[in-house]
Amino acid sequence: MCGIVGYVGRTMDDTALNVVMEGLARLEYRGYDSAGVALVTEDGVATEKRSGKLENLRSALEAHPLAPSRTGIGHTRWATHGGPTDGNAHPHRGGEGNRLALIHNGIIENFHSLKKQLLAEGVEFSSETDTEVAAKLVGREYDRLGDLTEAMRAVVSRLEGAFTLLAVHADSPGVAVGARRNSPLVVGLGDGANFLGSAVAAVIVMPAMSSRLALLIAAAKDTSPLPTPADRLKMSVLPARNTTRVGVPPVTKVRARRAPSVRSRGSALLS
Ligand code: GLU
Repeated sequence: MCGIVGYVGRTMDDTALNVVMEGLARLEYRGYDSAGVALVTEDGVATEKRSGKLENLRSALEAHPLAPSRTGIGHTRWATHGGPTDGNAHPHRGGEGNRLALIHNGIIENFHSLKKQLLAEGVEFSSETDTEVAAKLVGREYDRLGDLTEAMRAVVSRLEGAFTLLAVHADSPGVAVGARRNSPLVVGLGDGANFLGSAVAAVIVMPAMSSRLALLIAAAKDTSPLPTPADRLKMSVLPARNTTRVGVPPVTKVRARRAPSVRSRGSALLS
């Protein structure tokens, strides 16, 4: 299992990409064979991914800069299913028009039978990874349900194994949804910026922000409610099984909405 970083802020600029890249750099010590990022931009989800060192990804991003964004996810991969190639690197895409991007730590043990089913239904794959199965499934559920949290929740109930998943969708700017089972996911609530990461190191990315961060180690106990930060951000968490939505209102809406009430067990909603 390697590295995962997610960031949602308020301003459309290069902060999301910088935070995600810095987070990935802080996870390099874990080892990896490829890296990639996805940003929700005005024009949809933009991704870049490269096998090899983070430097390869950096060079690709310099050669082809991505548009400004306030929502980004990033991944360092340690291949378990499929070789360390550009194509197998995360993010993977799914849904109509490939408007969803998803990254994954861990192993989806029943991916083979799920993939067989999807192939029989005419779904096309562009990688050999177990991860792409989750991307196709969450993308399809989003197209059906129109809600990323619900789409993720519907899919994780079908997955076997130990995993952390993180997804963004072009139609849900300002939202990153994470899910985990027997695999860590750290939630960082900042002042106008929220984070998800596979380790604390990934979310302590900016000194100015980290002093204001309320760090919630979601991985610590599956059955304990997380504390509610005394901030204008509101979070409600029920025992994990585990979908976490991290959303931040855009800069034009400075006042955060109250979190929607959590209706089913095992979800964490933040707005
Ligand atoms: N099983 C996934 C893959 O091979 C994720 C591996 C990881 O944890 O980095 O792409």
